[in-house]
Amino acid sequence: CRRWGRVTEILQELEEKCATPSWKLKRIADAMNVEMHAGLASEGGSKLKMLITYVDKLPTGYEEGLYYALDLGGTNFRVLRVQLGGKDGGIISQESTEVSIPPNLMVGTSAELFDYIAAELGKFVAQENQDFEVAPGRQREIGFTFSFPVMQTLIASGNLIKWTKGFNIEDAVGQDVVEELMKAIRKRSLDMRVTALVNDTVGTLAGGRYTNKNVIAAIILGTGTNAAYVERVQAIPKWHGPLPDSGDMVINMEWGNFRSSHLPLTEYDHALDAVSLNPGEQIFEKIISGMYLGEIVRRVLCKMAEEALLFGDDVPPKLKDPFILRTPDMSAMHHDSSADLTVVGSKLKNVFGISDTSLEVRKVVVEICNIVATRGARLSAAGILGILKKLGKDTISDGKGEKNVIAMDGGLYEHYTEYSKCLENTVKELVGDDVSESIIIEHSNDGSGIGAALLAASHSQYL
Ligand code: ADP
Ligand code: MG
Repeated sequence: CRRWGRVTEILQELEEKCATPSWKLKRIADAMNVEMHAGLASEGGSKLKMLITYVDKLPTGYEEGLYYALDLGGTNFRVLRVQLGGKDGGIISQESTEVSIPPNLMVGTSAELFDYIAAELGKFVAQENQDFEVAPGRQREIGFTFSFPVMQTLIASGNLIKWTKGFNIEDAVGQDVVEELMKAIRKRSLDMRVTALVNDTVGTLAGGRYTNKNVIAAIILGTGTNAAYVERVQAIPKWHGPLPDSGDMVINMEWGNFRSSHLPLTEYDHALDAVSLNPGEQIFEKIISGMYLGEIVRRVLCKMAEEALLFGDDVPPKLKDPFILRTPDMSAMHHDSSADLTVVGSKLKNVFGISDTSLEVRKVVVEICNIVATRGARLSAAGILGILKKLGKDTISDGKGEKNVIAMDGGLYEHYTEYSKCLENTVKELVGDDVSESIIIEHSNDGSGIGAALLAASHSQYL
């Protein structure tokens, strides 16, 4: 029979280990700031790669013409077509399709993955009507959003450093991902060309800047998590290239790999990490992003089932299946506002095959979701404070009414309301009331796709 004492103990311990008081978040922000400096100082100087993106100018609003974007970086793959109207014209039209990446392709060979992408791209282009014809002799140009760490050498080429988020295609590591894609495109005789290779954070930054001049950084909270921001080239000691006219360079932080002794880690996190595809890596990502939150909750429930018989004398077998609890299901349970927690009851039934749960048990489940989501959201806020500190925007400036906008995107941020509300409140809590007037956190809906197309336009071979 159920041991409530043990349930309470496990819950309390989880709460203590996941605690993120303000003072701790501030230390984490300081550590982030220190690592940002180190990563900018030298290649390999920090766990934060602080990658140079070769994006030294962001969209101006003058971009014009028909451009494409390919977005590969998580569960889904998207193809997008955008007609840009030039000065004051804005986005005239946009269309896109989305397909999920077959799981076997995420761990297969480079050729298989890129062939699949090129095939989808080919279908998309074949279906378009006459309005989208490009001028004779002109290639269709693509902004390729590739949301994994890449060491770029130019705006349109870069070598894959490593995979994250459940991808593991060994023969692609170290290869130029644009070249791999172009091989597949040529094989299908598509007359297209990649003119910009961008991380999704960089795309979101570009898309955000197109609509709002005050955007200074972009954060993705989706399957994984990452951040990009606009840095002054003068503040990048490892940059030895020419000084761009703008004086700026967008930096892809790859903040998912951030790690600090101040991070609140639990036994569940250590166990999850140990059996992951990339043990010891992406620790920040593993405690704040969508791929992992549900899995952490499952691990806590599993312990409660084993040690406190939360679901009866036997441990429900499905509770032992890794990743069976997806973050959208976790958030549905967390958001359940019904008096008897009906949604929690039906999720426990449908996901784990556990029927007839009592209200008390359901409340415990919601509490676990709350603890895990709150930790993630508050740590994301600490990361944002780290960026604001690096830019000197965490204190009041004399510039009255100055606004600093952070563009946010990703399914986790978009759909997990408790998470995003908590993140926004925590940023306010950390910077204080006065500074918080100047910080705006803005959802940039699908900025990354449009942003990539905008960057493809500003780096067109025909300019
Ligand atoms: P990706 O990061 O794969 O490019 P998205 O930005 O669309 O794609 O994010 C998808 C991720 O967002 C999912 O893997 C999931 O973790 C999370 N997510 C999607 N819907 C929800 C939801 N309703 N509640 C919580 N998280 C969600
Ligand atoms: Mg994405």
